[in-house]
Amino acid sequence: MSNYITEPFRIKMVEPLRVTTREQRESAIKNANYNMFALPSKEVYIDLLTDSGTNAMSDTQWAGIMVGDESYAGASSYYKLRDAIRDIFGYRYMQPVHQGRAAEKILYPCLLKAGQYSVSNMHFDTTRGHVGLCKAKPVDLVVAEARDTEANYPFKGNMDVEKLEKFIIEKGAENIGVIVMTITNNSAGGQPVSMQNLRETFALAKQYGIVLNIDAARFAENAMFIKEREEGYADHSIVEITREMFSYADSFTMSAKKDGIVNMGGIIGIKEDSDLFTKVQALTVPYEGFVTYGGLAGRDMEALAIGLYEALEEDYLAYRLGQIRYLGDKLREGGVPIQYPTGGHAVFVDAKRVLPHIPYYEYPGQALVIEAYLEGGIRGCDIGSYMLDPDPETGKQMEAEMEFARFCIPRRVYTQSHLDHIANTLISVKENADSLKGYRIVWQPEVLRHFTAKLEPVG
Ligand SMILES: *Cc1c(COP(=O)(O)O)cnc(C)c1O
Repeated sequence: MSNYITEPFRIKMVEPLRVTTREQRESAIKNANYNMFALPSKEVYIDLLTDSGTNAMSDTQWAGIMVGDESYAGASSYYKLRDAIRDIFGYRYMQPVHQGRAAEKILYPCLLKAGQYSVSNMHFDTTRGHVGLCKAKPVDLVVAEARDTEANYPFKGNMDVEKLEKFIIEKGAENIGVIVMTITNNSAGGQPVSMQNLRETFALAKQYGIVLNIDAARFAENAMFIKEREEGYADHSIVEITREMFSYADSFTMSAKKDGIVNMGGIIGIKEDSDLFTKVQALTVPYEGFVTYGGLAGRDMEALAIGLYEALEEDYLAYRLGQIRYLGDKLREGGVPIQYPTGGHAVFVDAKRVLPHIPYYEYPGQALVIEAYLEGGIRGCDIGSYMLDPDPETGKQMEAEMEFARFCIPRRVYTQSHLDHIANTLISVKENADSLKGYRIVWQPEVLRHFTAKLEPVG
């Protein structure tokens, strides 16, 4: 039986949603050329495209918006955010930026030289992109369990520490610019990294003199997983766990659009290296703006300083992780195969197993996502072969290792009955799976095609 953890908040302001008919949705998705990113949000009932920047802020955060200090230099909201970072993470230096990729654009050129490697449990897409822009090479060394959707392993986001040490010895420590720990591991399905794994990875980094950067977008969800699953942490507070996690790194880049519980924002945190901080500040001025706002309004920094603390509240985190677990359990009970155990921010439906008759070059993940929209007005996203650009040398369609349909849950936005609607929709999609057809691409751009490609149904 699925167990729902009740919301530790009530609703004070509502945003009406439009309920559409299947006929209306058929015409909307056709007009969008079967691309979920081309659908106007007004055509969507439940929007699960991403959990990034789609969070609901609290009344305290909205009150913070009103008292934000919009001074160009030295705004009090900047100092409030700096003090929050010092308190929560134990890092002396912080630079606000407008979002996560801006943090990467500034920090990675300070860490990576051309030809070096960046080694990670798994690079997120934009992180991989910025490593490439430094003419460095991204390498992912996640544990093997991450690739088995059915393995009930508590920390599928972990770095394979043995492989990491082998890699360092083989390539030479001087050729590795940075080690990146992504918490939670987004690309592996929001899977957590254990404290032991963070500790061991940092020990290796220190032994070989390599900088360790945390990609911190979902730091609070990771801390809660450690509390729930790792021996010795049940009695630790979330902020204690967070401080310990970040003690095993030299710096972090954060997209605050996730666990910052705001709609826009990012942070670079530096533990103690004042030279690195000086370089970061020098790059921030031309790219993002003066150092005490870095691309954010004063009110954004105010709301973020408050949101970071709200993200650490244990009843909120229990409800948050509980929502994803509830949805995952309902789907499994209904016979829908998912990446299991569920991660912190999304359910990943295994489209290869739901639609075995649709080959990878007809995009089973995308076919499932489109049917979920037609059936229940839900917007998800393909994480499979459709998302992969063609092989740059041969121009051929590549086959992804996994064909997922991803449904992300925004923070504090949807209720239990919304989740029931999502589960019922996906279960009925699965029950009608035999009748579903694949898709073909009729137009695509040169790179990152999934955002703008045009498709049509096969047959
Ligand atoms: C979202 C995300 C980023 C990029 O942040 P943006 O705010 O979207 O620019 C980087 N790393 C991870 C793990 C993320 O989830």
